[in-house]
Amino acid sequence: MDLSNSRREFKRAKRSIPGGVNSPVRAFNSVGGVPRFIESARGARIRDIDSNEYIDYVGSWGPMILGHSHPKILAAVRDAMKSGTSFGAPTPRESDLAEAIRRVLPSIQKVRMVSSGTEATMSALRLARGVTGRSRILKFDGCYHGHSDGLLVGAGSGVATLGIPGSPGVPKAMTDLTVVAPFNDLKATRKAFEKWGQDIAAIIVEPIAGNMGCVPPLPGFLKGLRALCDEYGALLIFDEVMTGFRVARGGAQRLYKVKPDLTTLGKIVGGGLPAAAYGGRKDLMARIAPEGDIYQAGTLSGNPLAVAAGLVTLELLEADGVYETLAARSSALAVGFAEIAEKLGIPMTTRSVGGMFGFFFHPGPVDSFGQAQQSDAAAFRRFFSAMLEEGVYLAPSPYEAGFVSLAHRPRDIAETLDSAGRAMLRVARAR
Ligand SMILES: *Cc1c(COP(=O)(O)O)cnc(C)c1O
Repeated sequence: MDLSNSRREFKRAKRSIPGGVNSPVRAFNSVGGVPRFIESARGARIRDIDSNEYIDYVGSWGPMILGHSHPKILAAVRDAMKSGTSFGAPTPRESDLAEAIRRVLPSIQKVRMVSSGTEATMSALRLARGVTGRSRILKFDGCYHGHSDGLLVGAGSGVATLGIPGSPGVPKAMTDLTVVAPFNDLKATRKAFEKWGQDIAAIIVEPIAGNMGCVPPLPGFLKGLRALCDEYGALLIFDEVMTGFRVARGGAQRLYKVKPDLTTLGKIVGGGLPAAAYGGRKDLMARIAPEGDIYQAGTLSGNPLAVAAGLVTLELLEADGVYETLAARSSALAVGFAEIAEKLGIPMTTRSVGGMFGFFFHPGPVDSFGQAQQSDAAAFRRFFSAMLEEGVYLAPSPYEAGFVSLAHRPRDIAETLDSAGRAMLRVARAR
């Protein structure tokens, strides 16, 4: 596979950009090899600047649920652009998008647009603290909610602990207010509430963890969180930045029938342009400035191009059978990978929910970050590299979910499974 152009561009990028990339995972550090510099993408396929083509399961990390360069998205953005690119003043389309979000997610009565998932979770937590007058928050080990200080925490050892700074530059004082519990562990969460509950403003959780692979909630986990929040007067925030429009019409909250007080959205809501949102009960959202006293603002919030792309995306996702199709595609991959691994005697656990899937080189179960971390990193690296050579672009890290789009046809899935058969053989030979 010729990679000379990507190799050259990576070298050049490293001179002016930290690590050569504008977001760390793009550098391929956990898998090695040359990160592909992209020339273009269409449908389910992405093409690098050496003209290698791949079936893409990253989908820009979630937004591209309709496939790349969808003609209706391109047309909507082009059309919006004719009237200007940003005004810093309200436009009618922002209400169209807010209404489209409310139609799909009934727990959201009012919604505020922001520009990234990081901003959405940060703002939702400020709101939760402002409303409750409490200072602590509780998050789960292995859940990712963007890179703001209080959320960039690692877990200490033990059951439920105070967060430790997840990066230099995050003062310990910022993470002292973050309590970290193991995902899917209701008992540990209850213990944490027994200790700090009177000062916990909110639980924030990925209802299906998608930033440690794909780890669905165990039966009763989300309902248990709802009950704990009600008992202690804390708010429940579902971070559906990844899952909101990906796993079902109505998101994970519809799928598991648990109603959060606040929801954060991102990725798909911007249709591939930078947009995100947070919303929920109207008595809570009424506290946001200028209606209320809790400050939050954004120069490019509700940007007309992003709103146009988001609107078309949400409209197309309202069609019948969309989520059934996505679920069938990702389940075919999860089941197919597991069958191939089993035949070759390779321990593997796979999961899929709606349009997302994940696989661990681990015999299972994988219900927590601790278990996910026990998966075989060398096997993942081999499999990833072999798949890339086969022309299949998976997320370059063992702790990321995979995404299918409506542009992935059964033929693409079959081709992917053929490639997986050959790639897994290389993993088996190396064992
Ligand atoms: C991607 C993601 C975020 C962060 O969104 P950005 O737009 O990258 O800031 C937050 N929460 C979850 C669940 C995510 O998957």
